[in-house]
Amino acid sequence: MGDTPAVEITGLVKSYGRTTAVAGLSMCAARGEVTAVLGPNGAGKTTTIEVCEGYRRPDAGTVRVLGLDPVKDARKLRPRVGVMLQSGGIPTAARPADYLKVMARFYARPVDPAVLLDRLGLAESARTPFRRMSGGQQQRLALAAAIIGRPELVFLDEPTAGLDPQARLATWDLVAGLRASGATVILTTHYLEEAERLADQVVIVDHGTLVTQGTPAELTGSQGQLRFRAEPGLDTSGLLVALPPASVIKESPAGAYLVELPAGVAGGSCAHDRADRAGQADLAVSGPRRGAASEDGRRPGRPGTSHPAPQW
Ligand code: ADP
Repeated sequence: MGDTPAVEITGLVKSYGRTTAVAGLSMCAARGEVTAVLGPNGAGKTTTIEVCEGYRRPDAGTVRVLGLDPVKDARKLRPRVGVMLQSGGIPTAARPADYLKVMARFYARPVDPAVLLDRLGLAESARTPFRRMSGGQQQRLALAAAIIGRPELVFLDEPTAGLDPQARLATWDLVAGLRASGATVILTTHYLEEAERLADQVVIVDHGTLVTQGTPAELTGSQGQLRFRAEPGLDTSGLLVALPPASVIKESPAGAYLVELPAGVAGGSCAHDRADRAGQADLAVSGPRRGAASEDGRRPGRPGTSHPAPQW
């Protein structure tokens, strides 16, 4: 059980009407590591994370979180998993200090709310109603709520999007602290720098499939090249956005792609994906961006009870 990956995804497919958001994605994330899912907007990152959180059901494929089914075993997972969604889910009138105190009561060994507020630079806004907080402050409160129960596994969807540099650094520190305490963190980002700074493993996705997975050192190391096969004539402009500025993607012969990064690139180390990587990358063409609405409007209110949790 302890040997099972924190997250294991095999052949995940998820569509919204005619839009295929995730098109056969396979990846895994080891326990005790930070895994960054990196890709351009519309790559399917949020959808993948929401399936892992049990908010959406897969159309095909399997997803295991801490060895369990995120939908069927939702009750078992709830106290063990922390979730920070992009869209929050916090009542507009809630004041951070009160809100975190209420959240803390759901857990056996919560972090002291005052400590969390301080670490996230929210101490001065502790009495400000949520609706009057800045976007960055709201985001940090959502992060605090995700981790107050000392979860074994934390999902963070774009945790630093739109934050100012200081708030971004505070969030990075916090993620590093979570990792140091033994927690597993899965985060989505479209910032390569964030993935490099925080992650043990980086999973690059585009058009709903895995492009490659590796350590930051592999992905920015000496090799400098990544090859993958996909349907001929793919529009790779979306993938380029997620790569460093001077990156180049060439297709030759048809269907064989070569990505050249300025500082280097390589394969990955997630054992079950390694075998797939050479022959797969069935990159589908993505559909239009969605609006803000979610599939079913469900949002986290993730009260839990007790479970052995990491020390931090
Ligand atoms: P990312 O997080 O990488 O930006 P998403 O998972 O949000 O990617 O989106 C993947 C694709 O699915 C996009 O084409 C997006 O427009 C579409 N999509 C996402 N959520 C919905 C939804 N609730 N309804 C319809 N289409 C959606």
